Amino acid sequence: MAGQNHDVLIIGGGNAGVSLAARLHRYGIKDVAVVEPGEQHFYQPLFSHIAGGRAKAAEAVRTQSSVMPPGVEWIRDSAVDVDPAANTVTLASGRRLGFGHLVVCPGLQLDWAGIPGLAEAVHSAAGASHYDFGLAAKSWALLSGLTAGTAVFTMPSGPIKCGGASQKPMYLACDYWRRQGVLQDIRVLMVQPYPTVFGVPGVDEELRRKIAEYGIELRLDSELVAVEAAAQNAVIRDNTTGSTEQLHYDVLNAVPPQSAPDWLKATELPAPGDSGGFVDVDPQTLRHTRFPNIWSLGDAAATTNSKSGGALRKQTKVLAKNLVAAREGKPLPEKYDGYSVCPFTVSRSTVVFAEFDDHYRPMPSVPKVPTWKESRASWVVDRDIFPQVYWNLILKGRA
Ligand SMILES: Cc1cc2nc3c(=O)[nH]c(=O)nc-3n(C[C@H](O)[C@H](O)[C@H](O)COP(=O)(O)OP(=O)(O)OC[C@H]3O[C@@H](n4cnc5c(N)ncnc54)[C@H](O)[C@@H]3O)c2cc1C
Repeated sequence: MAGQNHDVLIIGGGNAGVSLAARLHRYGIKDVAVVEPGEQHFYQPLFSHIAGGRAKAAEAVRTQSSVMPPGVEWIRDSAVDVDPAANTVTLASGRRLGFGHLVVCPGLQLDWAGIPGLAEAVHSAAGASHYDFGLAAKSWALLSGLTAGTAVFTMPSGPIKCGGASQKPMYLACDYWRRQGVLQDIRVLMVQPYPTVFGVPGVDEELRRKIAEYGIELRLDSELVAVEAAAQNAVIRDNTTGSTEQLHYDVLNAVPPQSAPDWLKATELPAPGDSGGFVDVDPQTLRHTRFPNIWSLGDAAATTNSKSGGALRKQTKVLAKNLVAAREGKPLPEKYDGYSVCPFTVSRSTVVFAEFDDHYRPMPSVPKVPTWKESRASWVVDRDIFPQVYWNLILKGRA
């Protein structure tokens, strides 16, 4: 089925797609269309706060129609294939759309099946995951209802959205349990696949201090490899020795493995031979390395940074300016510097604000201000100011 042609076609109307569409429209490109199947738009950073009992689910969601920038066409469908030679995108409905420039930003898929028993476990009485909007409130119901026993929090290996977000509900719950006087009766385990708690010097020191303060058992170089939902057993593998251990849990909050969407992996857009499946862009210009009218940003791009909304906020400006220049036949003026961010909610009123580059070196946006230190002001920024900035400025292409 033949369809329309658009000057700029964007696949994915999440954080990246909507903010970029708004910005391109503001920069004078009038024919911008976004392919997005979802009727709801999420501010995902609040999922951690919902799971920790510090935000209501309704604060993290709006209708997609309310965030779609005026003048930008919303195509309510899913992309299933891209033909870079023909400059077309095929949709699930069978329609085919042409493009002058294409921006690919469909985010990451959650691979629940990647860990045997995980899907069943997060839908069982003792399991949840704040990486699924529908389960985040359940995390808080389970965590706040626990007065004794074992709570296990897990992070998978591989690419994930906001690496540190795996830890956030854990600290929020620990502070809650401490205030309720039950923390000493709860064994708290954090299972992490990497050799350090996060990887940024200074940030790790602060997190280690909080981990000690709450008495959390930290399992580094370890990951969840199976769950027996009915028996409430988590199977944890120590990746340094290969040995496994069965842990009985009373509450499990697990983050699923994540990857590039399957349909994207099957296109020509990833680097040849790259099984990861992310869009093969120059990590600085965000332009495809082989197809000059194709671009990518956000979680689906094969950039070198830690994937986060804070990273893609910078990428949006770079990509928009570069795409406008490319349309005018000019050299690309902007370079993305690898910046990323992770606000760790280390208590119910404080945050450790990690800002770092693609080598996990500190990259503070306000020089000389130690934002990586636990602070009440960072809490206000993360919990109260960022959501407003997101809905009112970022999605409108103004921040
Ligand atoms: C629990 C959690 C906590 C987080 N905390 C933070 C934080 O504190 N700070 C921070 O900066 N970042 C945080 N993030 C990360 C941040 O939310 C993501 O990095 C950001 O949303 C990525 O934007 P994106 O547009 O690439 O993907 P998304 O926002 O996920 O959007 C992708 C969109 O593409 C659509 N789509 C998927 N497949 C198709 C298809 N085939 N065709 C068309 N459309 C498609 C989807 O429906 C979706 O709307 C967190 C994420 C999570 C899950």
